[in-house]
Amino acid sequence: MHLIVLGGSPASPNPGQGCSGYLVAENDATLLVDCGPGILPELLRHRPLDRLDGIIITHLHQDHVLDLVPLRYGLKYAPGLQKRRVSVWLPPGGLRYLERLARVLSLDAESSETFFTETFALAEYDPDAPLTTAVGHVSFRRTRHWVPCWALRIEGQRATLVYLADTGWDDSLLPFARDADLLIVEATLFPDAEPAAREGHLDLLQAIRLATLSHARRTLITHYWNSPATVATLSTVREQFPGTVELAYPGLTIAVSPQGGEP
Ligand SMILES: [Zn+2]
Ligand SMILES: [Zn+2]
Repeated sequence: MHLIVLGGSPASPNPGQGCSGYLVAENDATLLVDCGPGILPELLRHRPLDRLDGIIITHLHQDHVLDLVPLRYGLKYAPGLQKRRVSVWLPPGGLRYLERLARVLSLDAESSETFFTETFALAEYDPDAPLTTAVGHVSFRRTRHWVPCWALRIEGQRATLVYLADTGWDDSLLPFARDADLLIVEATLFPDAEPAAREGHLDLLQAIRLATLSHARRTLITHYWNSPATVATLSTVREQFPGTVELAYPGLTIAVSPQGGEP
C-alpha cells in the first residue's frame, strides 16, 4: 500500500499546499480520501482523473469536500478521459449536502439533479458497517469534532492505515488506531490554544502522544498551519517518538508496510 499526500492544510491553504486530500494506492487500485480545495493539481501529477476507483469523505467541512466541484468538471470535460462514474462515499447527510450545493452551482443549462450524479455514483456510508473498497476494507469511528466526522481504518492486503480526520482528544480513538502501519493525525492547534478549540482539534504534542499511545509504526502529521513554530516543535519531539514521524506536504509518498514487510 502507498499513500500520496495531495494536501495537508487546515481550514485554509498553506503556501503551495491545498487542504485535506490523500491518495491511497494498492497495486493498481486507488482511493481518494477527502477532497479538499486545492488538491486536484497535485492529484493530476500522480493519476489521471478516470483512474480513481473511489472517493471517501470523512466529514462535510469545506476543507475536506469542496474539490468535488472541479473534479466533477474534470471528469465531465477533460479530453481523453474514459467516461465512467466514480464512486463517492459520503458521511450520513452527505447526499443532502451535495443536493443543496448543486442547486447553488448549477446554471440554467445544467440540471441540479444531475450536477454531481452524471460523474459520481453517490452513496452515504453506514459508519457501523465496514465498507469494501478497491484498496481494502474501511471501518469507521466517530471523532470529536463540531460536525459528525469519521476516522477511517483502512486494512489493505498487508498493511493498515488509520486516518483520524479532524478530531479533538478522545481516548476511544486509541484502540481504533492501535498498531497502525501508518497513522495520519491532525495537529491544527498551537500549544496556547483555547479550551474551546480543543473540542475539535489537536495540537502537535497531543498528536505525537496519540501516535505513541496507539503504537503507530509511522506517523504523518497533517492539517497543520505552516509556521516555523510547527516545524521547530516537530524537530524537538521527533527524537522522543519511537516510530517515524513526518509532516505532510504535497507529493510526499509513503510506502505503508507492516514492520519489516513489503508495502
Ligand atoms: Zn478540516
Ligand atoms: Zn473539520
